[in-house]
Amino acid sequence: MTKIMPQSGILEIAPYVGGASHVEGVANVIKLSSNENPFGPSDAAKEAFRRAAHELHRYPSTDHAALRSAIAEVHGLNSDQIVCGVGSDEILSLLCQAYAGPGDEVIHTEHGFAIYKIAALANGAAPVEVPERERVTDVDAILAACTDATRLVFIANPNNPTGTMIGEAELARLADGLPPQAMLVIDGAYAEYVDGYDGGASLVETRENVVMTRTFSKLYGLGGLRVGWGYAPTPVIDVINRIRGPFNLSQAALVTAEAAVRDKAWAEKCRSENTRLRAWLAEALAEHGVVSDTSTANFVLARFADRAQAEACDTYLQASGLIVRRVAGYNLPQCLRITVGDEPSCRRVAHAIGQFMGAGAPGGQT
Ligand SMILES: *Cc1c(COP(=O)(O)O)cnc(C)c1O
Repeated sequence: MTKIMPQSGILEIAPYVGGASHVEGVANVIKLSSNENPFGPSDAAKEAFRRAAHELHRYPSTDHAALRSAIAEVHGLNSDQIVCGVGSDEILSLLCQAYAGPGDEVIHTEHGFAIYKIAALANGAAPVEVPERERVTDVDAILAACTDATRLVFIANPNNPTGTMIGEAELARLADGLPPQAMLVIDGAYAEYVDGYDGGASLVETRENVVMTRTFSKLYGLGGLRVGWGYAPTPVIDVINRIRGPFNLSQAALVTAEAAVRDKAWAEKCRSENTRLRAWLAEALAEHGVVSDTSTANFVLARFADRAQAEACDTYLQASGLIVRRVAGYNLPQCLRITVGDEPSCRRVAHAIGQFMGAGAPGGQT
């Protein structure tokens, strides 16, 4: 028997599985499984990335000052309260590493993002799953689950994969009701899709116990580049900066993200197209008898009669060259998460689901 063992908790991790991108034997698939921006990054971002090729022999900036000021300027934030990471995933992991360990509890919700549990276990902390109310974050349930051991509370707002969100007053009530040793992390990966929502930034500025995370992977179309950031009280930023790798982000990533955030016209175009196509898709699905909660993000959570129907529909879609996301791992076996693609993709997926539902409704084609 080997005596070489990882830290406790690590072998309990179910490795994260990303959205599929191909189907055996099917050509020209449309990938609607990873909430990627169907329009890709802005031209300015692509040009910045090309230019960065000439400087690949140089080490990158360690303080990310230029990117932080660009983010601060565009979003109206304080640049010294921003920390940049290799995707927001890195920020979420660093928060766990810094604030939660053996004996500590990390709260996430019933249909919360998988990374929260992984990051807690990776650091020896105990993940605590709290119920939601009809696929919506339940502030009272979270507050009731808090103990003296709670160190972090993770919620995504809007949430993935439900697409639902809670309002600012509820977020404030959650932050203010936490025990003194616990911190609220508001994951704003989809915040840019919500008109007039600051992702929780004002809560960060007015409290000591709130952190917001954001990403370039969704609205900005840079999922392949890996850039995210956190907005936190300065003592928390100071802690994170002590443990993050000094060269965690490449110069190519830094300059490309900076160009992306400054291209407000492209972001606005992507946001408004998403809003229009999301409404169209949800309505088209409803006409075929597939319901969904009102989504505030760039995907729709299609709800079927049961697990068997959801899986049969997924199989039918795959055969038609359409890849969506099964979410049984998020306690939603009767659902499929469908990214809002460009218009032809939305039409194709709605048409295919219509064919599936029509073929043998209410059970669908099984
Ligand atoms: C996509 C997503 C992220 C983004 O992760 P990155 O590491 O920034 O690509 C974070 N949280 C949620 C809930 C997401 O869906």
